[in-house]
Amino acid sequence: MSEGIVTASYVGATILFILALGGLSNQETARRGNLFGMIGMAVALIATMSAVTANLEILIAGLLIGATIGLVLAKRVQMTQMPELVAMLHSLVGLAAVLVGYANFMDPERLQHFAGIELTIHDVETYLGILIGAITMSGSVIAFGKLGGKIGGNPMLLPARHWLNLCLLLASVWYCVEFVEQSAAGGGLTPLLIMTGIALLFGIHMVMAIGGADMPVVVSMLNSYSGWAASATGFMLSNDLLIVTGALVGSSGAILSYIMCRAMNRKFIAVIAGGFGTTSGGSSSASVEEQGEVIALQAPEVAALLMESKEVMIIPGYGMAVAQAQHIVNEITKTLKSKKINVRFGIHPVAGRMPGHMNVLLAEAKVPYDIVYEMDEINDDFPKIDVSIVIGANDIVNPSAQTDPDSPIAGMPVMECWKGKTTIVLKRGMATGYAGVQNPLFFKENTRMLFGDARKSLDEVFKNL
Ligand code: NDP
Repeated sequence: MSEGIVTASYVGATILFILALGGLSNQETARRGNLFGMIGMAVALIATMSAVTANLEILIAGLLIGATIGLVLAKRVQMTQMPELVAMLHSLVGLAAVLVGYANFMDPERLQHFAGIELTIHDVETYLGILIGAITMSGSVIAFGKLGGKIGGNPMLLPARHWLNLCLLLASVWYCVEFVEQSAAGGGLTPLLIMTGIALLFGIHMVMAIGGADMPVVVSMLNSYSGWAASATGFMLSNDLLIVTGALVGSSGAILSYIMCRAMNRKFIAVIAGGFGTTSGGSSSASVEEQGEVIALQAPEVAALLMESKEVMIIPGYGMAVAQAQHIVNEITKTLKSKKINVRFGIHPVAGRMPGHMNVLLAEAKVPYDIVYEMDEINDDFPKIDVSIVIGANDIVNPSAQTDPDSPIAGMPVMECWKGKTTIVLKRGMATGYAGVQNPLFFKENTRMLFGDARKSLDEVFKNL
């Protein structure tokens, strides 16, 4: 393929990626957006491969291995493990940036290609690529552990942690100067290795310092970092497409982080500094015994309550994903609607374990989009709601976010379902949610509990309807 066609293909792929992002911003167009993304990636791969003249067999072997792993993972991974998979993929992007950086540095022809200011620019690119890549890699591995429950959700708050971060940052800047100076003389490996160690430590420390409920922001932030790491790799390889694609991922991840911060009522800058919103040592909520009694119902009673109501709000959470209850929820919705009962869905921005988690599940079950509302759109409507059904949600309906300033989720906007006539909570027991905070909602006078796996409980309710 001539250079002109390769460049044209890169421009085409970039446009397709932008269309993909545009499509993904809305449920109705998300499928089309995905398709654009896939075509864009195929164009990018073919164009990049066709520009390679040497060692093509290594490239094809790598591509085949990567594609096989990707296909197997996509087939095997459960929907509930998706956030961990995404975190793992981010760490691979980081690792790739680190490896490309080192390969670039060790290129024997480097000093022949670049000299003077060009060499300095090239070295700074390499240094930044490895720095961002290493932070992304170690941070994502810790995020993987935290999302999968392999690492505890409590924030690890070292004494003087912000000073520690500052020292790590200053050391990175100092070693950058050292690296650039030594590199011109043919050295530089030692400062590069020390910086890589510092960056790995920083990534670990940054994510370890973040408490359970704040993880959504971390996930989107690492998404953004992985984009910048890819972009830095693009600079190192002088690949325009990688620069643009990385910048698209980096900036869209940053926008998502900002949206997540707003949803969690956290400050964006504090997030970037790491360990934000974690001044409280842990949950100050009272234990189950101290909070009072819960009133449990059986499925027939829940069905009866639903049949008597006019306005129903369904609030799905992570437990709906675990139980795979979305299909039966759709059946119940259809039945209630056929009885002229107004059913709506209220989606909290951080419900589940990844941005848009609930929307994906409801779309999969073919719940009509026009009855699915964002939290901000429906939170004021709860006083008019007869029955709210909370399906495997906990933190997102926790009133202590508003009433307990010491709670780890203090200040996070929540779905105010307790303002409605009756709230029915479906969960298996009295376990806490991701943030590890007890939930006073379960003990309120107008709350009823339907204990059991959400899917089995809803199957029973459906039969009774
Ligand atoms: P939570 O994790 O707060 O609560 C889920 C509840 O579901 C649990 O209390 C559990 O209780 C119940 N549950 C689990 N399995 C089942 C089942 N099979 N049937 C019925 N119930 C079940 O989830 P929310 O969606 O309310 O909140 C999301 C939390 O995750 C927030 O803290 C958010 O910050 C965090 N998070 C979100 C991310 C995102 O991007 N959306 C990313 C990372 C973290 P029990 O065991 O008693 O059944």
